[in-house]
Amino acid sequence: MPDEFLANNERFLQQNTLPLIGHAPRKHTAVVTCMDCRLVRMFEDALGLERGDVLELRTAGATISEPERPAGANDLIRSLAGGVYLLGVRQVLVIGHTQCGLSHIEPATLTASMQALGVDPQKLIEQEKLGDINGLIKWLGGFSDVHINVKEVVEVIRSSPYLPRIPVHGLVIDINTGKLTLVDRDTRGTT
Ligand SMILES: [Zn+2]
Repeated sequence: MPDEFLANNERFLQQNTLPLIGHAPRKHTAVVTCMDCRLVRMFEDALGLERGDVLELRTAGATISEPERPAGANDLIRSLAGGVYLLGVRQVLVIGHTQCGLSHIEPATLTASMQALGVDPQKLIEQEKLGDINGLIKWLGGFSDVHINVKEVVEVIRSSPYLPRIPVHGLVIDINTGKLTLVDRDTRGTT
């Protein structure tokens, strides 16, 4: 129900008047991270981010799913291209997190959850030519190691023909403490 949020919003409007600011990110940076609810507010605080500082792009697992990687033209790349060409982004940070819901997806759990909601996984797998349950997990973007996933996503972004050569760094944030670790610093230099 949206009512709770509408009521919160009324309170917010009574208490706040926002300053008008532009849509180009002050730090010329786009941050790619996960949709995990534990990142709400904590993420910005942990990175010292204020409203207007960066573009925040969130995907399940801070990832690009395997089937979408080869073309380098998926929805995340599209958003980054908009950020770079229209909003002045000159640096990308890919930030995965520990204990991600997309890591170690249990096939039986996924199957049971889908069936409970009236979706037949087998039918979907056949219809979309995913091969088997592992193909479905790949489509979802499942991965086993967050560090490897971050490095792979960084590589897809670096090599996308839709994007210019700008620094793309990979990091992992601890979901419980907020500690940020650099796992892949871009040393290619810009052209
Ligand atoms: Zn996650």
